[in-house]
Amino acid sequence: MWYGPGDIRWDKRPDPRIELPTDAVVRVVAACVCGSDLWTWRGARPPADPHPIGHEMVGVVEEVGAGVTTMSAGDFVITPFSISDGTCPHCRQGITTSCSQVQWWGGTDRDGRTLDGCQGQYVRVPLADGTLYPTPALPDPAQIPALLTLSDVLGTGHHAAVAAGVGPGTTVAVVGDGAVGLCAVLAAVRLGAERVIAFSSHTDRQLVATGFGASDVVSERGDDGAAAVRDLLAGQGADCVLECVGTKVSMTQALATVRPGGRIGYVGAPVGGAELPLGKMFSNNIRVGGGLAPVRAYLDELLPDVLAGRLDASAVFDLELPLEKVAEAYAAMDGRRSIKTLLWP
Ligand SMILES: [Zn+2]
Repeated sequence: MWYGPGDIRWDKRPDPRIELPTDAVVRVVAACVCGSDLWTWRGARPPADPHPIGHEMVGVVEEVGAGVTTMSAGDFVITPFSISDGTCPHCRQGITTSCSQVQWWGGTDRDGRTLDGCQGQYVRVPLADGTLYPTPALPDPAQIPALLTLSDVLGTGHHAAVAAGVGPGTTVAVVGDGAVGLCAVLAAVRLGAERVIAFSSHTDRQLVATGFGASDVVSERGDDGAAAVRDLLAGQGADCVLECVGTKVSMTQALATVRPGGRIGYVGAPVGGAELPLGKMFSNNIRVGGGLAPVRAYLDELLPDVLAGRLDASAVFDLELPLEKVAEAYAAMDGRRSIKTLLWP
């Protein structure tokens, strides 16, 4: 539960139960802390009252409502970071984060019920058919961390790569060395990029980036960083720049790094006053795409690769804690002692 800035507590809540026929109750097998949870933790987006928190989990279905048709008790499910019905026009077009019935973990549903957070032992899942994604069989326990990245960071990194037009032969630069940026490196490699340059000045993150297939790491920032990318790319900027932070500084870095005619894919929530310079974009034919990642819509494509072991972003988890120590997980990530912390109930 989030109580206030810097104050997360392991606390008791009522056991979730089926409230609507479209609900499921899921027993959480693994959860984790997201960089965007830290904004809440720091009080940048304070909700009105203490509330459940967390939006990434995988688990096992305990019970389903009478209207749920695509899963049953015992199924293992991936849970995307947003709740969606899967049937409205936006969902059918793959933008599940703009679902006409969209709801958010730890938020409030249309009837005023507080929704559970994913950093818990059990979670009531509204619109279960549209939201949850059952795996074809119970996975190997060793794959649970890799499957958990499908809940948010891997799908979000993939969205940045898709939005920036990454494909075979492209040159890519990734701004942001958090879990999403690192997953964007992995996604760009998967999509056939010829060269992937990661911006990072932290040794632990540089190692994950190169492990995920980054060909080069640039530790400089600002104009020096953009110049270092051009040095690596025969004087040109990158074809595709993946902006995975959401601040003014990171978007400025992305714009300085992309080549004329190139594309920026942005997936960092714009919390820091980032804006787009239309004049510069006009002059240099720079395209910017992306936004809040519809990770549910990417599971058809990404899950088979994860299950086959061809796509494994689990190295972003460099700290694992029991769920009761959730407060320590936030402190570790805030203090950059952990890239991303996995929580075991
Ligand atoms: Zn929808």
